[in-house]
Amino acid sequence: MFRCFAASRRQSPLALCLRLAAKQVLRRQGGLSVMLRDYDVIVVGAGFYGATIAERTAAVLGRKVCVLERRHHIGGNSYSEIDTATGIEHHKYGSHLFHTNSEEVWRYLHRFTTFTNYRHRVLTVHQGQVYPMPINLGTICAFFGRYMTPSEARELIRQQASAEKIGHAENLEDKAISLIGRPLYEAFIRGYTKKQWQTDPRQLPASIIARLPVRFHFEPYYFTDKYEGLPTDGYTAVFRRMLDSSLIDIHLGVDFFDVREKIGPHQLVVYTGPIDRYFDYRLGELAWRTLDFEREALATDDYQGAAVINYADEDVPYTRIHEFKHLHPERRYPPGRTLICREYSRFARRSDEPYYPVNTIRDRQLFAAYQRLAGRQRNVLFGGRLGSYQYLDMHQAIGAALSDFRKKVMPFWARARECVAT
Ligand code: FAD
Ligand code: UDP
Repeated sequence: MFRCFAASRRQSPLALCLRLAAKQVLRRQGGLSVMLRDYDVIVVGAGFYGATIAERTAAVLGRKVCVLERRHHIGGNSYSEIDTATGIEHHKYGSHLFHTNSEEVWRYLHRFTTFTNYRHRVLTVHQGQVYPMPINLGTICAFFGRYMTPSEARELIRQQASAEKIGHAENLEDKAISLIGRPLYEAFIRGYTKKQWQTDPRQLPASIIARLPVRFHFEPYYFTDKYEGLPTDGYTAVFRRMLDSSLIDIHLGVDFFDVREKIGPHQLVVYTGPIDRYFDYRLGELAWRTLDFEREALATDDYQGAAVINYADEDVPYTRIHEFKHLHPERRYPPGRTLICREYSRFARRSDEPYYPVNTIRDRQLFAAYQRLAGRQRNVLFGGRLGSYQYLDMHQAIGAALSDFRKKVMPFWARARECVAT
């Protein structure tokens, strides 16, 4: 329905790649520090937030954009690439499933890609048995060893949840028990949560578990959004098309903090890195969780039979295993090979990649203090997951960027024009 990306954008991924690479080399020869002043907007970070702002700025305002990216690839955490050993596309930073209820975001992305009809399911392993996740009627029946109707299951869970007499649930453990009762909590939530957060669930906010629904039917899908799917030819192709403009230059392997003094006050900086780093941690450090990914190519057709399997028990060190070929059942991948990735979670040190905001009360207060500093920066827009210290799904990062473009980037240039006119 939304197959509307322009014919000129429909180049092969290889052609686009070569064009972008040529542009990057060209720009490097000129010397980055000299070049920076030539741009209207400096976007720090080539994830979905930064790429959306860059694309809109070039396409709508016709302004020159420089994208600085510390890593050696575009796409931020949504980056995907073909594994050379297996020929399978993998998501370098863990499986990224696209889903949204936003008509605007769905339409916007269709300028750059079509989507497959992939719908995500997750399973979880507890003591050698496999169950559907999030907890649904199938999980409940299998766990308690008998078939129950939806109302019987509801009644059982209600009794188990009320047995603990929890009043106002302030922490994750109390909240989970008040929703699903102790037996299901101990089997599927406690161990996984401890591994994921390295924190006792009684010390974690109740809000974390509100993300995980309990369903009294057999519907197996993880998300219930109106739109879901995966970009037909991968996430990185989407980013290449978004950034394919003569007004956008990309500099990979460049850290903003190495070049920031070369940026003038008339330029707009869109900063999508960690907000505490921007201010040199002067008020303290925000807490993040990081992940370690252990990839392995295996000489088998199918390792686990599903894209993602969670491991609920504490004695299994990883939280989940991804098997990427299952994300694209419509593709013909070479037989006899597969690529898996075990995911381990831990607290981030300053040198680690920050993935999930820990978001304790102290973190919220610290972030509010950084926001006050940010409000005093006239020509800097802080955005995205790291800049706004928020767990944002991809559609939320894109939605926030589209909104910030209208509410902040366009007015910035309207004001700049007024200054020139007076
Ligand atoms: P990012 O993608 O993080 O991009 C920020 C970029 O800024 C990075 O590339 C970084 O290198 C760069 N940068 C930072 N500092 C500097 C600097 N000083 N100089 C230059 N560059 C800098 N979302 C979903 O919708 N579905 C999912 O299934 C899903 N799964 C996820 C799984 C994991 C393990 C993680 C970590 C996230 C997942 N997400 C998922 C969230 C998704 O990754 C984010 O929504 C998205 O990446 C946000 O885009 P962003 O532009 O805000 O940030
Ligand atoms: N969770 C759990 N068991 C699972 C999956 C999730 O206990 O099998 C809990 C865990 O505390 C997690 C929260 O539910 O932090 C939210 O789950 P979600 O899958 O949304 O977490 P994400 O991987 O996005 O952090």
